[in-house]
Amino acid sequence: MANIIVNRELCNGCKTCFKACFIDVIKWDNRAKKPVIAYPEECVHCMYCEINCKERAIKVSPDYQAYLFPRDSIV
Ligand code: SF4
Ligand code: SF4
Repeated sequence: MANIIVNRELCNGCKTCFKACFIDVIKWDNRAKKPVIAYPEECVHCMYCEINCKERAIKVSPDYQAYLFPRDSIV
């Protein structure tokens, strides 16, 4: 499962990551105006959220032990 971390200090609440995630891993907290990583187990590591965050406030760390990344193919 990917580890997805939002730095709430850096986040300006622009909602870009929420809009970028096409499979709803990221939900939106209307009250706090911050993203919520609701379903990290469904992340496909496309990095759209991280790449499009101008504040560099969201970081996706893929799980390289997962079946999507068999170790033999990346070493
Ligand atoms: S794209 Fe970055 S700054 Fe914008 S809401 Fe997401 S984490 Fe916050
Ligand atoms: S890496 Fe892709 S699938 Fe994962 S949370 Fe970001 S936008 Fe969604």
